[in-house]
This record gives sequence, C-alpha cells and structure tokens, in this order.
Amino acid sequence: MSSEIVLKEFEWYLRDLFFRSNVNNSQKVIDCFNREDIIDTLLKNYLRYRNYDYDKISDLLNTVLANLHSKNVIKFEKDSNNVTLYSVFDRKQCKKCYYINYLSINEKIQCSRCNSAEIQEFPSRKI
Ligand SMILES: [Zn+2]
Repeated sequence: MSSEIVLKEFEWYLRDLFFRSNVNNSQKVIDCFNREDIIDTLLKNYLRYRNYDYDKISDLLNTVLANLHSKNVIKFEKDSNNVTLYSVFDRKQCKKCYYINYLSINEKIQCSRCNSAEIQEFPSRKI
C-alpha cells in the first residue's frame, strides 16, 4: 500500500509527463500512451524516480491511472496496454499558493492543493 502523499506526488509527475508529451510535439497532439513507455520515461527522465524499481513504479502507475480514470481524465483502451487522454492538459498556477496544476477539460478549474478557483495560465501571458 502506498501512502496518499506518495500517490498524490506520483499523480503530479504523471500529469507533468503527459503535459510535456502533449506540447513537445507541435505537429500532432499526442494523447495516447503505452504503460510501458510511461514507466520507462519516468525512470529515465525523472530524477525523482530514477532509483525506483520497475515494479514499484508499475504499482503506483496502476493505482493512479485507476484514479484518473474515475475522474474521466483518461480512457483505457480495450485489449491493449494503452491509455488515452480525454484532452490535453492545461498548465495553470494557483494565485493563492502558487501550486502548478495540470488540468484536463473534464476537471473543475480548481487548485488541487488549496482548492482555490483562482488559477491562471502558467507561465502567465505577458501583455
Ligand atoms: Zn492553491
């Protein structure tokens, strides 16, 4: 069993990974991800998880994906190891606590740390 804090942190990194994959490819929106690729990317590109073993990451991933599925953020593909996002993520910063949130189109615009609804694009647009 993983603690709530560990899962919440993992979810943040997973949303970060999705967000970065969505925007890195300006030609085409990437919204379908293979579970094995997600785990590989976390182990390779995320310092936080570099020393984790594959099975531990896989357990965290399964728990958090089930959670995101229940929030209508992702869909599971039948008969495959793939997950699909309902929408690309918006990156927004809370005006109150400065937390960075990655939000799907199906989620309430609200800070997941302090619940404030006052969040803005990050980085904020220069006028
Ligand atoms: Zn906040």
